[in-house]
Amino acid sequence: MRGMLALVCGLLLLALAAPAVAQPEQDVIPTAGGDLAITFVGHASLVFEYGGKVIHVDPWTQQGDYDALPKADLILVTHEHRDHLDLAAIEKIRTPQTLLVCNQAGAEKLPGCQVLSNGQQTQLLGLTIEAVPAYNLVHMRQPGLPYHPQGVGNGYVVTFGGRKVYLAGDTENTPEMKALKGIDVAFLPMSLPFTMTPEMVADAAQAFKPRVLYPYHYGQTDPGLLLALMKDTPGIEVRVRKLR
Ligand code: ZN
Ligand code: ZN
Repeated sequence: MRGMLALVCGLLLLALAAPAVAQPEQDVIPTAGGDLAITFVGHASLVFEYGGKVIHVDPWTQQGDYDALPKADLILVTHEHRDHLDLAAIEKIRTPQTLLVCNQAGAEKLPGCQVLSNGQQTQLLGLTIEAVPAYNLVHMRQPGLPYHPQGVGNGYVVTFGGRKVYLAGDTENTPEMKALKGIDVAFLPMSLPFTMTPEMVADAAQAFKPRVLYPYHYGQTDPGLLLALMKDTPGIEVRVRKLR
């Protein structure tokens, strides 16, 4: 009996001493159709849980433990770059039922995905998913060749229970972005040289006025610069999460 007690106490101590496993951060957004939980995996990798379904966005093994994350009912891939389209991550979370949406160039690497071009939309899992343009205006790989040429990559506007979530993909503050209407939650990329400066993110946000703005894909850019630029803008809550 005494031995048993010692064993139980020993196990308890071990459990207390075990290092906490780092869980990715999560926010909850209430919608008319129930809560939308957003898990911030890192960089451009996100997980949305809504109505019992799991939607992964741009899963990348470098950002999270995809063995531990929930299996996907739907995977959205914005474009074919390796930090957005990672077949190893997709293999870990897909099942025979998983739906895949990507851009045309992504479909060449990811057979079986449903291609959406800029401006097209579809209904999946009861969600409306609209592909919107994502491209560079000024940041070029070499003169005349943008990192993200117009018409290739997608952003997505996904409507969850009446709430519109904008996943911008890799883009700059394009006229199409600035003309978006009714966005509740926006994820805007903020890293150089591939996407936007904090000034460009602020310019876009001040134009289309999301209620909540998450800078993501921010690499070595200091999110504090965006907070400073947005501090006098009412009606937009900037939330900084670990999305380097
Ligand atoms: Zn890219
Ligand atoms: Zn990227």
